Amino acid sequence: MNDEMKPLVRDDSNGRTRRRVNGGTETLQSSAGAYKPVNSQNDVSKMKHQKFHVNAFNNCVTCLRYCGCSNYEMISQEGPDGDYYRDDFNDQPHSCNIGSSEENGIWMNQSDTAGTIMALMVWFLIGYSAVTITFLAETGGIHSSLSMLYVTFCALALASHAKTQFTDPGSVSASAQPVESIRLMNPDAPLSMCSQCQTFKPKFSHHCRICNRCISRMDHHCPWMNNCVGAGNFKHFILFLVYTWICSAFSLGLLGWNYFFCVSEDCIFSVVLVQLARFVTLLSSGAFLFTSSMIMNVTYGVMTGIGTIDRLKKKANNTILNSDEEPIPLRDIFGIAGYHTWVVPIDPVFEDYDRVMGFSTAQRLLREQMKEKTISEHYASSNV
Ligand SMILES: [Zn+2]
Ligand SMILES: [Zn+2]
Repeated sequence: MNDEMKPLVRDDSNGRTRRRVNGGTETLQSSAGAYKPVNSQNDVSKMKHQKFHVNAFNNCVTCLRYCGCSNYEMISQEGPDGDYYRDDFNDQPHSCNIGSSEENGIWMNQSDTAGTIMALMVWFLIGYSAVTITFLAETGGIHSSLSMLYVTFCALALASHAKTQFTDPGSVSASAQPVESIRLMNPDAPLSMCSQCQTFKPKFSHHCRICNRCISRMDHHCPWMNNCVGAGNFKHFILFLVYTWICSAFSLGLLGWNYFFCVSEDCIFSVVLVQLARFVTLLSSGAFLFTSSMIMNVTYGVMTGIGTIDRLKKKANNTILNSDEEPIPLRDIFGIAGYHTWVVPIDPVFEDYDRVMGFSTAQRLLREQMKEKTISEHYASSNV
C-alpha cells in the first residue's frame, strides 16, 4: 500500500488533535505530528480498537471544550466531505488562567478595582430590581406573568453583561499581520505600530491603558462592564443595553400603572415594599436615561462607522465632517449564523473573522492555506 493511501490513526502518545483527516487518505501533518500512517494490514484490528478510543477521546474533548477548560482542540464533522477544522485558540493550547494578556485563556480585566466593583454593582442592582418586582407580584399588586417576563429580561441583561465582560473584545495578537484583502483596497495607506504593544495596529484599533492591549475597532473602555467594547464583544454590549433599556422601561411602566391606576387593596404594599419599590423607580429612571443615551451613541457609531473614541478625537480636531468611514455592516457585529442568534448573547460567527478584526496572524494564514489546499484537492478527487 502506498504511504499516501494508508489510513490514518491518531498517535495518542503525542496527545493533541490538530489537523483534519480528509476522507481517510490525506492528512495535513501538524507540527506535533498528531497523525501517522498505519504500517501494515495486521494493524486493522488494532485500528478498530484505536478508533473506539479516538471516538471516546473526541467525545471527552468536546465535553471539555464546552466546559471551557480543555487543553486540546477539536475536530468536528462539518465542512467538505464531513471534516472541518475548528480552532478557537489560534493553534495554541488553551489555558484556564484569567487575565487580559495573550497567554491568558479566560479574558477578564483584573487591573481596575473600581471597574470590578462597578461591574458587580450592575449585577446587584439588576438582581435587586428583579427580586423587588417578584415580591410585588407575590402580594398580587403586579400580575405574576408580567413579573416572570420582567425577570426573564433581567436574566438576558445579566447574561449579556457576563458575555461582554468575559469575552475578548478583539485584543491584537503579538503576531498580528495586515489582512491582504484590506491592504489591496488601499495599498498606499501607511501601516501603523503600537508603541506600547510593539505590534501592528489595525485601522480603528486603539491601545487601552486599562486592559494594556490594543483592541480592534475599540469603541471605549466601559467601567460598568469592566472591559473594553470592541469588535469581539460589540454584539453582547448592544444586547446588554437593549435588555437593560427594556427592563427599566418595563419596571417604570409596571410601577407607574400601579401607582396611578390600581385602586384595589392588592396595590397597598407594606412599608418595606414601598421603600423597595421607590428605590427601583429611582434606579429604573436613571438606567432608562443612561441606556437611552448609550443606545443613541452606539447607533450613531454603527451608522457612521466612527466609534466613541474616534468621534471624540475627530471632534477635538474638527475633522468629523471630513470623515468618509462606511457604516459598520450588522453582519460584522451580530454574525451570519441566523437572525435568531442576534437576540441571544452567544458569540457571533463572522463571515471573515480577519476582516472584522482588521488583522490576521501567521497561524490563521497558515490554516487558511491548508483549508484552501484541502478543499481544492477534495473537488479535484471528486471530479476524477
Ligand atoms: Zn497597544
Ligand atoms: Zn480596556
